[in-house]
This record gives sequence, C-alpha cells and structure tokens, in this order.
Amino acid sequence: MPYIVALTGGIGSGKSTIANAFAALDIDIVDSDVIARQVVEPGQPALAAVSQRFGDEILHLNGSLNRGVLRQKIFSSPQDKSWINKLLHPFIHAETRKQLALTRSAWCLWVVPLLVENHLQHIADRVLVVDVDRETQLARTLCRDGISREQAGNILVAQASREARLAAADDIIDNSGSPEAAIARVAELHQHYLALAAAIDRD
Ligand code: ADP
Repeated sequence: MPYIVALTGGIGSGKSTIANAFAALDIDIVDSDVIARQVVEPGQPALAAVSQRFGDEILHLNGSLNRGVLRQKIFSSPQDKSWINKLLHPFIHAETRKQLALTRSAWCLWVVPLLVENHLQHIADRVLVVDVDRETQLARTLCRDGISREQAGNILVAQASREARLAAADDIIDNSGSPEAAIARVAELHQHYLALAAAIDRD
C-alpha cells in the first residue's frame, strides 16, 4: 500500500480546492464520494441488491440509481438507512483499498469528507484536516451551492463538530485566508509527506 494521507473537513471548508492543489503537484487522488457513486453504478452487485429490496422504483428508466427516491425512502426509515449502510460498507471499503493500491505517486491523497463520522482514521497513515470557522464555512457553502442559510446550517449540524475533526488531525490547513496562502501550505505539506513516505519503506 502507498503512504496514505486522508483529507477531511466540513462542507465548504475547502477540501476540493485543496485536493486540486495537491493534484497539481502530481499527487494521485482517491475520492470517497466518487467511490460511493461507483459502487452503485449499473451492473454493480450493490445496485442489484438495492433494487431487489426497494423495487424498480428506485431506478431511472436507464437502469441507474434514482438517488432522490432512495434518499426519501431512507429518510423516513432508519431500518432502511442502516440496511443500506451495512450493504454498501464492504463494497466501498474494497473499492477504496483497490484504488489506493493502484496509485503510483510518492504518497496519495484520500479525500474523505466523513472520515471522523465513520471512524475511518485507521485506514490512513496521516489525517489532514481543512479547517475554517463556522461562519466562513456557511458563507462559502451558501455562495457555492445557492442553498438557504437554514439548509446549510442543517448540513453542518449533521456533521462532526469542528473540535472532533481537529482532535483527529495530524496536520491542519487553516483555509480561512486567501487561496494563495492555502496553496503555499499545500506545497509545504507535500514536502513533509514526501519525507514521511520515503521514511516508510513498505515495498
Ligand atoms: P468542500 O470541498 O470542502 O465542500 P470547496 O473546496 O468546494 O469545499 O470550497 C467551498 C467554496 O469555497 C468553493 O466555492 C471554493 O471555491 C471556495 N474557497 C475555497 N477555499 C477558499 C479560500 N481560501 N478563499 C476563498 N474562497 C475559497
């Protein structure tokens, strides 16, 4: 396995922005949101299991998952939500390990918004938290997603607290300043991770 740095942070903290900056340094990225979608693509066993349980109404006509309908179903039923999570977990885990093993850069970045919520820290060698205060997080999320302040606030409340995330951090990027300041910090951390990865010889 490569040297794995997990990147996490709350909604609107700047994870995608920071991940792009590492990608520009030729670091391979594994994205847990992408994997969560890939495991329920048409033809995947997880989608077959989901449609067997909920019926064809959770599928679009072209056979892909209708996320809106599924979201409604699990919103109103904690049992269904827990069933889905249990079903998907091993598929997501296996795909994550596969994609991490396929990376070729000196170390790799695993972007995982729900790292702390799902207690996934043990998979990574290092945890990097993108941190901004709540107001900045809200303002940037509103600006990006065009949702109401109330909706954004509800999403924030459902996520791990800033304190819980910071408690899991080995390294922190304070993204409350300019994008240039964050990029400078990314370059500094990249050097640090190159040294850490080189010190661990796993091959
Ligand atoms: P996340 O992936 O954590 O949800 P994003 O990277 O999408 O967050 O950032 C949220 C929004 O804030 C985006 O519109 C992004 O362009 C903007 N943004 C990110 N970092 C900064 C920064 N340092 N200064 C100003 N705006 C930023």
